[in-house]
Amino acid sequence: MSVASSTGAKLFIIYTGGTIGMAPDDVSGTLIPMGFREIKYHIPELTKLGYEFDMHAFTPPMDSSNMSPEIWIELANIIHANYTDYDGFIILHGSDTMAFTASALSFMLENLAKPVILTGAQLPIGEIRTDAKENIITAMEIAAAKRNGKARVPEVCIYFDYYLFRGNRTKKYNTETFEAFNSFNYPPLAEAGIDIKYNDQFILEYPKELFRINTRLNAGIAVLKMFPGITQHAVNAVLQTSELRAVILETFGNGNTITASWFMDCLKKTIDKGIIILDRTQCDGGSVELGRYETSAHLREIGVVSGHDMTFEAAVTKLMFLLGQEYPVEKIKQLLETALKGELTEK
Ligand code: ASP
Repeated sequence: MSVASSTGAKLFIIYTGGTIGMAPDDVSGTLIPMGFREIKYHIPELTKLGYEFDMHAFTPPMDSSNMSPEIWIELANIIHANYTDYDGFIILHGSDTMAFTASALSFMLENLAKPVILTGAQLPIGEIRTDAKENIITAMEIAAAKRNGKARVPEVCIYFDYYLFRGNRTKKYNTETFEAFNSFNYPPLAEAGIDIKYNDQFILEYPKELFRINTRLNAGIAVLKMFPGITQHAVNAVLQTSELRAVILETFGNGNTITASWFMDCLKKTIDKGIIILDRTQCDGGSVELGRYETSAHLREIGVVSGHDMTFEAAVTKLMFLLGQEYPVEKIKQLLETALKGELTEK
């Protein structure tokens, strides 16, 4: 389906599901997804915007808690198939795992020269106080925005509650307020008020090479979250996971862990088997600094890799992406500490 344009911008909308398009089930009252036709019915403004747009709707639409690497690949393929025909892409997505999808796509869409804006809502589109309308309409404006004839935001982003964030810097941090997302370690790329104010200095540079997708992913990862009192059994249960290629070690503060010798031995044996251990802080703001405290100096010595200030979502998807490339372990370790798509602040 196509809608006539007055501005000439051509957008492609992918509707995956999420609260944005949910309605209460008549019998149980549980929120279940509805189709894109109903969404359009609730936002007549879509046609008034003056953009031409086409869409692809998932059938059935999904709650994003069921998102998976296979669906990230499907999304990358849909964008690839439509890339040359459109100025920008909008993905309507549940908020629960939106930051994972945005992070994964940021690595899979290489040399991206067009905006890919994910958005959703905290309240379904049919509710009077819904945030869906504003989110979708402004996401479309951003996806259509140009500067000197080129896309203003050639990145994968999340737009939510008046802020545009880099996708791989974003985290869902609130289930109650309309401000569901935040980017603790990187400034917003734009803020929508009466005008949309773009922070051009923080937006990725326009790529020099041709767009392509890279859909090789390997999900052989696990997460070990530190807490005072963690037992050797719990640690071993994670580190001895079969088919394990990498572990995200969720640490205290600047990347610190307990220093008990049994714990260090477990980590060292794991690294000696060629399994990567990535240190990511449990704190939302700030960075891992291996060696700042005695409780992290030993981690660097045995070959633990610093996750710097990456979000958990970026760490998960970057590991899956790098493991999928089948690079040697040392190269993966080096790339983990390098900003590939602006996902971390290099020291
Ligand atoms: N459970 C929903 C989802 O992620 C929540 C939302 O859309 O906000 O699909």
